[in-house]
Amino acid sequence: MLFYDPRFLEHVSSPMHVERPERLRAIVERLRTEALLTDVRTPSAATVAELRRVHRQPFLEFFRDLTEGFLDPETAVHPETWGIALLAAGATIQATRASVAEGRPAVALVRPPGHHAGPDYGGGFCYLNNIAAAAADQVAQGRRVAILDYDAHHGNGTSEIFSDEAAVLYISTHQYGIYPGTGAAEDVGKGEGRGFNVNIPFTSGCGDESFRIAYDDLIEPVVREYKPEAILVSLGIDAHYRDPLTGLSLSSPGYVDLMTWSAELAKELCGNRLVVVLEGGYHLQALAEVYAGVVARLQGRRIDLELTQLLDPKGKGRPAVEATKRAHKEFWNLR
Ligand SMILES: [Zn+2]
Repeated sequence: MLFYDPRFLEHVSSPMHVERPERLRAIVERLRTEALLTDVRTPSAATVAELRRVHRQPFLEFFRDLTEGFLDPETAVHPETWGIALLAAGATIQATRASVAEGRPAVALVRPPGHHAGPDYGGGFCYLNNIAAAAADQVAQGRRVAILDYDAHHGNGTSEIFSDEAAVLYISTHQYGIYPGTGAAEDVGKGEGRGFNVNIPFTSGCGDESFRIAYDDLIEPVVREYKPEAILVSLGIDAHYRDPLTGLSLSSPGYVDLMTWSAELAKELCGNRLVVVLEGGYHLQALAEVYAGVVARLQGRRIDLELTQLLDPKGKGRPAVEATKRAHKEFWNLR
């Protein structure tokens, strides 16, 4: 099932901004072409009470009342921004509730993205943290949730919101050293949350083989041991080799494989409760074919993918995975 609203196309931060409506339009058009645009559900806005689980009240009031201004230089607010951001958070919360209730995958096709939004800040094109609000909604119902963040950037907002929380396992693969600068292997969380914040800090050039190593050696064993009751994925497509913003080099089949493994894990561990949430990704063809490929695979189908170059045959991210394993050896049974 898909959660989508055409209002997500009305969010325009600034006229030449890379986080533009065409991104989501390209995904939806490709889904339509592939006959994958089925079971589309219309979301409703998140409530302030739902957002208060992850954001502080003064930040929410500041953003709501701002009308025209900036959360950071690349994250502009206009009169309609608050309402669309509430709808994106609501779609993600409702997709997660539906997946949990029905035991099948849900995909939240939302804009603006969310994973850089923290307890009292937005930024990095993000206003409200969609996936964090959805995870916190499940935690409020007594469930344990794993968030896998495959966006090329570290989800500093999600990580900080749950840094001292054991009921949310956050695992991120990202290019380390670019925006937002956080996400070192040694940042394992704090207090009750120690060990539940797993950062895999890749260098430029890491692609399919590096992600396979990260998945096999770290992501799968940690998630297995954690035994979540739902798996939520921040699926940004900016780790793709065609993406103009970062230096990671996943191919389209590499992305679809990564999501196939993640979906198999959700099927085995938590009754097929898998939620895929759009974050970044700025190359239109890469966005469209990866999302169509993932939605097809969730329905047991395959589509033709064109962006198939393998640029990381040896897995240059192995040292990053080893660093993360060292940082987490006291918390998890890792080989
Ligand atoms: Zn990103």
